[in-house]
Amino acid sequence: MNMSNNMPDMAGIEPVRFGLDDKFKFKCHKGVKCFTKCCRGININLTPYDIIRLKNRLQLSSEEFLAIYTEPQLLEKTDLPIVTLKLMDDEEKSCPFIRDDGCIIYEDRPTTCRYYPLGVASLSHKEGADDKDFYFFVHEPHCLGFEEEKVWTIREWRKNQGVDIHDETNAGWTDLLVRKRSFPKNVMLTEQSKKMFFLVSYNIDKFREFVFESSFLERYDIEKETLEKIKKDEVALLEFGIKWLKWLMFKDGDFSIKEEKKSD
Ligand code: SF4
Ligand code: SF4
Repeated sequence: MNMSNNMPDMAGIEPVRFGLDDKFKFKCHKGVKCFTKCCRGININLTPYDIIRLKNRLQLSSEEFLAIYTEPQLLEKTDLPIVTLKLMDDEEKSCPFIRDDGCIIYEDRPTTCRYYPLGVASLSHKEGADDKDFYFFVHEPHCLGFEEEKVWTIREWRKNQGVDIHDETNAGWTDLLVRKRSFPKNVMLTEQSKKMFFLVSYNIDKFREFVFESSFLERYDIEKETLEKIKKDEVALLEFGIKWLKWLMFKDGDFSIKEEKKSD
C-alpha cells in the first residue's frame, strides 16, 4: 500500500482524473471492519507543514522529530531529498501513531492521511495553479469505506479533512518539486543546494538557527519586519525559506545580496 499519493511524483501511475466537483461515496468510521488497516504497511511522504504540525504536537524539535520518526529518501525524477514516516518494526509495519482505537495524533495527521482515499497530483509548477491539479482514487481492496452510502464532492472532502491549510502552506515547496522534476535529467543541483533544500523543508528549527546565528544576515539584505516575523512564526519562516530556495535553486525571485558581499 502506498499513501504517498499527495506528492507530485506519479511514476508508473495512469490514474483516472477527477475534479473538485466530482462525487464519490465513502465513509470511514470506527465501525468498519477494516478500521486502522490503512495505517499499516504504508509509505507516507511528509511535507514541511506536516513536520511542523507533528513536531509541535509531540513537543519535539524538528531535529528530534526527524531522528525518531522519519527516514530519508530521494524523490524519483527530482533527485531531491524527502522524508517518509518511519514505520514500526512489527509484522504489519504499522504507523507509529496508530492504536486499536485510531490515530493518536489525528488532529495533526499528515497531508497524505487527510487526502486518503484520494491522491492529488500537481502538473504545474506555478503556485496556486489549482486548475492544473487533479485527483485520483487510491482504491485498495481492504478499504471498505467505499461501500458506505455517504456522498461527497472532492471539494467537500478536502474541506472536511482540513487539507486546504496544508496545501496552501506547502504550495511553494510543491512548486519546487514539480519544477525540478520538469528539468532535464542532466540538470543537476549542487550538493549544497540539496542540503539547504533539506534544511528548510524538514528541519525548521535548525534553519532558524542558520538564519539568525550564522553569517546569513551578513550576506542577505532582509527587511527588519520580515526578520521579526520569521523569528516568531514557523510558517512565515518556512515561506521565507522556500522563497530563498527558489532563488538559490532556480535563480527565481529577488533575494538581495548585500552590496559588499556581491564580489565575494
Ligand atoms: S498518522 Fe494517523 S492517520 Fe496517518 S497513517 Fe498514522 S495513524 Fe494513520
Ligand atoms: S475504511 Fe478505508 S480509510 Fe477507513 S479505516 Fe478502513 S481502510 Fe482505512
